[in-house]
Amino acid sequence: MRNSKIGVLALQGAFIEHEHMLTGLGAVCTEVRQPSDLQGLDGIVLPGGESTVQGQLLHKSGLFAPLQKRIADGLPTLGTCAGLILLAQEINNPDTDSEAQKRTAPSAHLGTLPVTVRRNAYGRQLSSFVTEQTVTGIGNCPMVFIRAPYIERAEKNVKILAEVDGNIVAVKYGNQIGLSFHPELSESTKIHEWFLSQCEYTAFSA
Ligand code: GLN
Repeated sequence: MRNSKIGVLALQGAFIEHEHMLTGLGAVCTEVRQPSDLQGLDGIVLPGGESTVQGQLLHKSGLFAPLQKRIADGLPTLGTCAGLILLAQEINNPDTDSEAQKRTAPSAHLGTLPVTVRRNAYGRQLSSFVTEQTVTGIGNCPMVFIRAPYIERAEKNVKILAEVDGNIVAVKYGNQIGLSFHPELSESTKIHEWFLSQCEYTAFSA
């Protein structure tokens, strides 16, 4: 079987780390910066970074509509941190933002994942931390949180895969996986292996 071809959205943020992990696992990576980069992909990763900036760049690059369609049509998608925020149907922008930022921050970007995320949910004081928790179907995973969101509401048909301190931090909804944390910044390759297995399965059964 040929190696999976995985797109990594490379407009801003921590995309290189995903590429290193995925190529280490045998995938072929393409940096996605324009609509033609979406051709022939078996899956796509939306990395962490700054979701407001990434959302603006999605529009500027012309990627917004074609990417949204590919995800809605079933392309396996892994959204981590800001990537999860891009996928969410609804975004809560809490008090950590200034009033001006809150006014201009959008209430949704791609909106393909029926969850509400709370941006910068851990506030200023506990903005970054590392923990370890079980992810359903994968096992124990180290979790690196950096100014992370958590999921406040998930529709019934969204599978909740992990919680930390009672807050949802990992979900799966059909082809979309949304994580509050950064699996690419830990030593563990479990999440990426699991994602690649979904990409292979979808490519094989298509
Ligand atoms: N706080 C960032 C945002 O709202 C996400 C942080 C991250 O991706 N590590 O977009």
